[in-house]
Amino acid sequence: ALTIGIVGLPNAGKSTLFNALTRNDVLAANYPFATIEPNVGVVGVPDSRLPVLAKVFDSQRIVPATVSFVDIAGIVRGASKGEGMGNAFLANIREADAICQVTRVFEDVDVTHVDGKVDPAGDIDTITTELILADLQSLEKALPRVEKEARIKKESRPKLEAMQAAVEVLESGKRIHGSGLDMELLRDLFLLTAKPFLYVFNCDQDELADEDLKDRMRQVVTPSEAIFLDAKFEAELVEMDEEEGRAFLEEMGITEPGLDVLARVGYETLGLQSYLTAGPKEARAWTIPQGATAPEAAGVIHTDFQKGFIKAQVVSFDDLVAAGSEAAAKAAGRMRLEGKDYVMQDGDVVEFRFNV
Ligand code: GDP
Repeated sequence: ALTIGIVGLPNAGKSTLFNALTRNDVLAANYPFATIEPNVGVVGVPDSRLPVLAKVFDSQRIVPATVSFVDIAGIVRGASKGEGMGNAFLANIREADAICQVTRVFEDVDVTHVDGKVDPAGDIDTITTELILADLQSLEKALPRVEKEARIKKESRPKLEAMQAAVEVLESGKRIHGSGLDMELLRDLFLLTAKPFLYVFNCDQDELADEDLKDRMRQVVTPSEAIFLDAKFEAELVEMDEEEGRAFLEEMGITEPGLDVLARVGYETLGLQSYLTAGPKEARAWTIPQGATAPEAAGVIHTDFQKGFIKAQVVSFDDLVAAGSEAAAKAAGRMRLEGKDYVMQDGDVVEFRFNV
């Protein structure tokens, strides 16, 4: 499964956020046989379509899609040169598929800041610089070998050129992701800044209500996604039962828990989408990469479904709900039989036909 690595300066609130994420764990309830590492938090992706489907099909339970977060130690200035946890820790994030940077916005005299003052834009710059420096090191280490190769083998030249272009991008202070470079050619370098980023701004309640502040933060990270939450509040919220939590949210004037927003945005940042299945047993969201075909989607349920794939019976969630039932959707001509080249759309409600 794809994972999101959490990074940030010390005392930004990473552990508080990660603990809230793991407390929110849907694994125990829905995936009894899954085993995961202790430093991985698996979070359900809230999907308002599932309860609606469960009603249409009279399903006994709802199984959401999930997104995984990996807890990673803090980065300090000089990490790329081995300060703090240094390179060993940077090696850990190489395995993540996206990076979630937690940035402190909250003021609290009891919580020290490594640089002596709370400065979200400055902190983002510090972390980004360390990641860029680490990538430059990776490139400098690999370049001599690829240069030599390219002299002998013409096929290696595009890779060499991509690497040289990557050095230029990084030296101008930019990340590789979004630079337009061919990621395929750079894939085996596991560059940190080639991953998609998302930003969590850890705010206090009054800061959450400050739209000007949030706009300024959004501008700092655009076009990446910015999520604003209060990690301490989220940690308290996950300790409550559902009713208590709902009342607490209402009292604070918050429409949706920050962790839910984080799960959803994280899922999208990883390039994932859901298709849905429903029956009397369960209404369920299944995770596929955007652009996946019907057989690939079937393979997520079971490899045999992909091998023996014949057709997918598909109706869009909206059409199904408008019709009110599967039979009515069929009668209205909304149910399609799709073949092996069909590209799945987010919210397709599917039943696979396959040979065993
Ligand atoms: P980490 O070093 O990034 O993992 O940071 P921690 O999660 O350990 O948080 C550092 C300190 O800041 C702890 O004492 C937290 O209780 C506190 N903290 C975390 N989030 C918030 C917040 O939103 N508001 C306030 N006031 N304190 C927070």
